[in-house]
Amino acid sequence: MRITDVQVHLVEAPIPIERQVESGAGRKLSRQAALVEVLSDEELSGIGPCSFGSISFDLSIVDSLARNVFLPLLVGRDPRAIGSIWHDLYYGVLVRSLGNRGVGVAVLSAIEIALWDLKGRSLGQPLYSLLGGPMAPRVPVYGSSVYWDDINGSVRQARQFLQQGYQSVKIKVGADVEADIQRVEAVASAVGSSASILADGNLSYSRRDALRLGRALEGVGAVFFEEPIPLDDVEGYGWLAQRLDVPIAVGENLYTRWGFVPYLDAGVGVLQPDCSRVGGIAEARRVAELAEVRHRWIAPHTFSDAFTLCVNLHLALSTASTLILEEDATYNPLMTELIETPLPKEDGYLLPPTGPGLGIALNRPWAEAHRYRGEHAVTLGSVPTIGGAPEHHQ
Ligand code: MG
Repeated sequence: MRITDVQVHLVEAPIPIERQVESGAGRKLSRQAALVEVLSDEELSGIGPCSFGSISFDLSIVDSLARNVFLPLLVGRDPRAIGSIWHDLYYGVLVRSLGNRGVGVAVLSAIEIALWDLKGRSLGQPLYSLLGGPMAPRVPVYGSSVYWDDINGSVRQARQFLQQGYQSVKIKVGADVEADIQRVEAVASAVGSSASILADGNLSYSRRDALRLGRALEGVGAVFFEEPIPLDDVEGYGWLAQRLDVPIAVGENLYTRWGFVPYLDAGVGVLQPDCSRVGGIAEARRVAELAEVRHRWIAPHTFSDAFTLCVNLHLALSTASTLILEEDATYNPLMTELIETPLPKEDGYLLPPTGPGLGIALNRPWAEAHRYRGEHAVTLGSVPTIGGAPEHHQ
């Protein structure tokens, strides 16, 4: 089998104003997906997603990188030699030019996932099976997320998640810390024993405010406290991890196994690799293995679209250290319309997909009818408070 071509599918669905949500990562205006399809000479192809967290930029960069930079290095190669291709593209192209973090690694992620999808299809095996799984019959998911709102609105959002079957609900914090504490406590009180609570600061708090919010999370028995402070303050992650019993989580904005090591060393308890961003499936597995070496959890990040959720489901299914998986529960047609049949789900759990490879199929007419038109997906995120760290070291 040989690679013959690469196609890129860029898709978007604007969010109606009344359904838009806001957090420290900005206000979401549109849902977007960037998929890379790798074609072979055996009438088989594979599709992989890349995602970029919360930033907003021209998605056509994915098309440019995939077709102009990576395609010439892929044509004619055996798509089943995934590790060898990854090494050539990462070390041969990215590290010396585009960089070992960021959009280049995200596009490499999409290509690597597409190769795994293609391999699974050629073997007639689901991806989690090729990865040695399943480790469990199903994976618990949490509803992401209760966005910034007043107390009544936050409680209303959380109750809607319970009605949808979620047994775990994440709250976006990272705004005014006192108001955030009141929202967390109100939501925890409203859901009672029906659901567990998680919180996400989207990198927005100072160390001091993160510690205060973290104490409140301990009080409600929260599962984890995600991205409490700016990503560059690795020392601060260690400072918080030492002082809080609630585990600190980080990873949606980290790339490759090497990006995670400093946070592991700092004492972070939950790693959140996203296959569509971290460097692909094998790279996310390496992050999961690092977590196992240090007896930590993984809780894969996923938000963009159904392909991203699906590939991270395969990761979660085949990994011993899986704690829980994120599922976008906001307005998002890319979770429902982008694929031909929805992922199997029951009682707040996702079940193993049954088809070969990723086990899902692109709804091509819908994707074609919703082609990316260059709209911005999100407004600017919060700028964190910088400085003042030493006074908190006593
Ligand atoms: Mg997050």
